Amino acid sequence: MFTSLSDRLTETFKNLRSKGRLTESDVNKTIRDIRLALLDADVALPVVKEFTHSVRERALGAEVSEALNPAQQVVKIVNEELVGILGGQTRTIAFAKQPPTVIMLAGLQGAGKTTLAGKLSKWLKDQGHTPLLVAADLQRPNAVTQLEVVGERAGVPVFAPERGNVFGHDVVSETGEGTRSHGDPVAVSRAGVEHARRAQHDVVIVDTAGRLAIDANLMQQAADIRAAIQPDEVLFVIDAMIGQAAVETARAFQDGVDLTGVVLTKLDGDARGGAALSVASVTGRPIMFASTGEGVKDFEVFHPDRMASRILDMGDILTLIEQAEKAFDRTQAAEMERKFLAAEDFTFDDFLQQMAAIKKMGSLKSILGMMPGMGQMKAQIDAFDEREFDRVEAMVRSMTPFERNHPKQINGSRRARIAKGSGTSVSEVNQLLERFTDAQKMMKQLARGGGIPGMPGMPG
Ligand code: GDP
Repeated sequence: MFTSLSDRLTETFKNLRSKGRLTESDVNKTIRDIRLALLDADVALPVVKEFTHSVRERALGAEVSEALNPAQQVVKIVNEELVGILGGQTRTIAFAKQPPTVIMLAGLQGAGKTTLAGKLSKWLKDQGHTPLLVAADLQRPNAVTQLEVVGERAGVPVFAPERGNVFGHDVVSETGEGTRSHGDPVAVSRAGVEHARRAQHDVVIVDTAGRLAIDANLMQQAADIRAAIQPDEVLFVIDAMIGQAAVETARAFQDGVDLTGVVLTKLDGDARGGAALSVASVTGRPIMFASTGEGVKDFEVFHPDRMASRILDMGDILTLIEQAEKAFDRTQAAEMERKFLAAEDFTFDDFLQQMAAIKKMGSLKSILGMMPGMGQMKAQIDAFDEREFDRVEAMVRSMTPFERNHPKQINGSRRARIAKGSGTSVSEVNQLLERFTDAQKMMKQLARGGGIPGMPGMPG
């Protein structure tokens, strides 16, 4: 799922990464690429339009974070907008104050409703609920049996109509005493909910019939069931593989039955994923769950934020962006910039500050690991000795404030004292001072040359 969309977006951002500053034409080109990538992924046109419009506005607008470079900025915006069209916050079942909580499933035939009923009931059961499944799909001849199999697998009882009346034989799983449900799905649903109330099931899931395509009868039946059982949740189950048809189907169910949430099924397939990106927007209802296979365990709560990062496939770059923003200190950056522009010496005190900022983001290893494209450098990253960092810090901390601000004044006896104080050797202190002087020189050259691209708070 989403592989080709992910690849396209990653490519788009790669082109931005080398830019120090984004011009309007960079932004326009990026937006064009994003638009095409979304359309090719079968995302509905109105959704694409709205999406690219907000990204463009925000990318061109005054929304500038000093902690991020332009490419990161765009990734952040696209990510936030993706989370938005996927429904924003994670939401699952809203339980009724008075049990049972009634959940109705609606959707086309083959969408995966019956399978989902089993998964959802298992998920609820694992959380200590006592769900009951109700077989109100009387359209497909074997739908009731299928739900019974699914229920058995999940270890959840199934309320089924008296089959003697429906299918001509009379195996009864858990029928409501004295309730004549027969072949009327509305009556079966009502009886099922009644039974759940009497038998003290705290959740009841009603599986309803679908048709291969939307038709007025089906919609009327679903609306009648809704009216009869007054569900707390009406979940629209939709096959993520149906592509562009998703929008029309979702809209029809939203208008006909009034949904409260969406469940995406078959996310394990290799479809382009447009349905997933369109339904929440089109229905205005959150995607609550995702079904990712035929097994009862292939089920997860849908997290818009996680799905967005999966689509963006930016490794942990999004986490990195978040941490950079958190660690970023405006005053400190301004002071660094001032020093830099004035070609003033970078001191060991500055160095300690920078070190502290990096540490705020996590271990150096984990930061390197989160950078995209660092995959090939995994061996070097693993070999990197974090203690090297600590030794350098120990040496700097063994310096007096005077020494930190005047590294050139650190003579032989001072070096010996620093080595002793930090548990290192004089030659290590010598090395550090040498590298530091080199770094100072380089900074000055850069300052004269006009800046370091991509450094926060730095011009260029
Ligand atoms: P219903 O007509 O809406 O009740 O749909 P079913 O639950 O009978 O599912 C239709 C078909 O899709 C069945 O063969 C299921 O095994 C399959 N199915 C359901 N959910 C998934 C899923 O998440 N992934 C895959 N690969 N198949 C699924």
